Amino acid sequence: MSRAAYSHKFVKAFPDKLDDGILYVSVEFGTAAHRCFCGCGSEVYTRFSPRDWSMKFNGETVSISPSIGNWSFACQSHYILDGGRVHWADRWSRERIELGRLLDRERKDLHYKGEPPASIPTQPKAEPARPGLLARFARWLAGK
Ligand SMILES: [Zn+2]
Repeated sequence: MSRAAYSHKFVKAFPDKLDDGILYVSVEFGTAAHRCFCGCGSEVYTRFSPRDWSMKFNGETVSISPSIGNWSFACQSHYILDGGRVHWADRWSRERIELGRLLDRERKDLHYKGEPPASIPTQPKAEPARPGLLARFARWLAGK
């Protein structure tokens, strides 16, 4: 049974058995855990980091963004946890999932290498043969 709402519980460590319909949040571990809200029983752990998920607590409800896509589970469920409500999202095609994973990996690689995006060349560096070719072209233009 997919659920439409959830409550949250701040915990130090996660219990051995997660209860249905509860989003456990451990600030200590920087992670949230819940049983997949589709009802399949899979345990879903979402890690908080600048490149993974982030959490918003407004004093009453906890929201998590971005959406949670359980692609590694049979259910393939995809939802957004916002203000205590489960917003069901589209299932993604295999291609979309692969693309998402690839982009995610790339973003993480960049993040953990600590390189600001600006330092990444947007164009391949000139090949060694280029300057020679350009010089020849320039000479040809000059009619020599
Ligand atoms: Zn599920």
